Amino acid sequence: MYASIGGFRRPSTPRTSRLTVRLAVLASTVALSAAGLAVAATPSSAAVCNGYVGLTFDDGPTGSTSALLSVLRANGVRATMFNVGQNVQSNQSAARAQVDAGMWVANHSWNHAHMTSMSQSQMQSDLSQTNSAIQSATGVRPQLFRPPYGETNSTLQSVASSLGLRQVIWDVDSQDWNGASVSQIVSNAGRLQAGQVILMHDGIQNTRDAIPQIMANLTSRNLCPGMISPSTGRAVAPDGTPPPTTPPPTGTPTTPPPSGGCTATATTPNVWGDRYNTSVTVQGAGNWTVVVALTPPQRVSTTWNGSPSWDSTGYVMTMRSNGSGNTFGFTTMMNGNSSARPQIRSCTTG
Ligand SMILES: [Zn+2]
Repeated sequence: MYASIGGFRRPSTPRTSRLTVRLAVLASTVALSAAGLAVAATPSSAAVCNGYVGLTFDDGPTGSTSALLSVLRANGVRATMFNVGQNVQSNQSAARAQVDAGMWVANHSWNHAHMTSMSQSQMQSDLSQTNSAIQSATGVRPQLFRPPYGETNSTLQSVASSLGLRQVIWDVDSQDWNGASVSQIVSNAGRLQAGQVILMHDGIQNTRDAIPQIMANLTSRNLCPGMISPSTGRAVAPDGTPPPTTPPPTGTPTTPPPSGGCTATATTPNVWGDRYNTSVTVQGAGNWTVVVALTPPQRVSTTWNGSPSWDSTGYVMTMRSNGSGNTFGFTTMMNGNSSARPQIRSCTTG
């Protein structure tokens, strides 16, 4: 049975007869299916991704990479970090922290030289040395390359391509490297269209300060931060692969059963570009109550085989058995955070 939209409607549930409650749920189901699109278009909370943009940060890692990652995480952003090889080599933990925070790591040359004046073999060793540094620090082999200063030629492109690197320049220059103010950076980012990529930099305070407003602007235009496709160089939906350090979501028992309690086990059987399904199986009780917490800005869009209710934040769902068995499920919209998975907080009887 389908019911409820996370956070938007919390049906008032007076203590009445079970029949009344069931009718109310039925009624809301009908209303929901009729108004499904209208609910999804609600502008204030859940982001609807009608397109993706690639946020990129060059020249890291730097001494302020962790500050940048904090801002990105707090705003539910995944971005592409075009790293300089020698910076990675001297600050491997910062490069690893980028990946741990859900960022994509990419090649921005060994030491930010003007590469078009290099010989082919110099280009080759520069890019492969950078790839090796990134791979050994993070475990991830880069698939994207941005030439320093955006300066390129056909030799450089073919060398990059022979190393499995797709060249990515940018569509929008934030001008953060050129002393742009926070509001100028926000305004430049406001020109981003679906599929496009913006140039920003690690290590600049104004850039970090601009991120919340950039995200507010993108959200208001139903654009979400995405990954850059290695095959097209355009921004696309994140592929749903969680960062390597995220524990696998499948089959992890979550609640040690307290006395009189039950056990709820969550799996993630389906993951798409912008959403995923979670299936929760309860053991040890026929009548159960399971509390599930989401990570903002993720939102539940649909549930089945249980009766959900929500706390005031809209991120904590209490699911009660409704006679449909011991497995319930729900669909979660990623809204730009493709790595987080719901946490089961408790499973109790009754
Ligand atoms: Zn650069």
